[in-house]
Amino acid sequence: MGFYHFFVMNQDFTLQMRQMLERDLKGRGIKDPRLLKAMTEIPRELFVGNSHLGQAYSDGPLPIDCGQTISQPYIVALMTEELKITPDCEVLEIGTGSGYQTAILCKLAKYVYTVERFEELSQAAQKILGELGIINVEFRTGDGSCGWAQDSTFDKILVTAALPTIPQSLIDQLADGGIMVAPVGPTGVQRLVALEKKNDKIAERFICDVRFVRLIGRHGFNE
Ligand code: SAH
Repeated sequence: MGFYHFFVMNQDFTLQMRQMLERDLKGRGIKDPRLLKAMTEIPRELFVGNSHLGQAYSDGPLPIDCGQTISQPYIVALMTEELKITPDCEVLEIGTGSGYQTAILCKLAKYVYTVERFEELSQAAQKILGELGIINVEFRTGDGSCGWAQDSTFDKILVTAALPTIPQSLIDQLADGGIMVAPVGPTGVQRLVALEKKNDKIAERFICDVRFVRLIGRHGFNE
């Protein structure tokens, strides 16, 4: 790639990123200034694969390897905003996928723990976050429906694949006062919900309808 080509491509992305920010995020009610800043600091073009570079900032999900998807930017922003992450938070993410959402979480939280079923996706995500100089993250490969394989709790839990129901294993790993955001429901359309844990009671709030790939695992769907 020549210098001119590189320059032109970067110009395009700057404009596209600004359009995403104004039209798709702020235009739909995303307000958190720290989140909006984070979304301008993470280059989505690094996560989408060469054949989709031209759509890096388009208003929708895109295919990634292993038959999975990188989520729509607005949905990434919406789920993140609902988590109400502060700089002292420890976040568990189920479904690393491309690592784009992981990188956004890393900009906002103290530390991010992320689990992915496919080793190949996890490796690719680790490489990109490494190149971006992001170090407040730990990656694991395995079945995230069982939670983080360790006796720990998290201030926030984000599930980025559809669950048939919220498993007790994840509720158990949510700290008191913590928030979990997850798409819940059958293949096709699910309800995006925010669960808040207070004194061992769970309050559930409906956010909107969404379409996610299925979470495959012990407390998820069968393969
Ligand atoms: N936030 C990601 C979304 C990826 S799609 C992004 O924007 O790129 C959801 C991801 O969840 C897929 O990569 C899929 O492989 C993964 N997944 C499915 N079941 C899982 C499980 N039981 N544990 C961990 N990850 C799982």
